[in-house]
Amino acid sequence: MEYIRVWTEVDLKDVEDHIVIVDDKYGHCPACKKIGIELINLKKCPSCGREFKYVTSKEAQGAKHDIVIRTRKKLPNLTFVDYNDYDHELGKKKAGSLFNV
Ligand SMILES: [Zn+2]
Repeated sequence: MEYIRVWTEVDLKDVEDHIVIVDDKYGHCPACKKIGIELINLKKCPSCGREFKYVTSKEAQGAKHDIVIRTRKKLPNLTFVDYNDYDHELGKKKAGSLFNV
């Protein structure tokens, strides 16, 4: 199977509320900051119960996508989001809310 990045419209809030950040072995829940979450059959955070629909990894940058393949095998039900896109959009949102207070 080959892997390419596909652009799609997303509800950023939905991504933000249902994402897990992973490295090669474990996940990190951005909601409750729990680290070391086992990835196999992961559907929700064992600590705060957040439902996971999206996954991203700091190690997935540009053409380096080995981690994507490995993560997709472990978590086939989650949508893999490009880390730079996630970080960038979240950063924009945070900057925006700064001006709205
Ligand atoms: Zn959590």
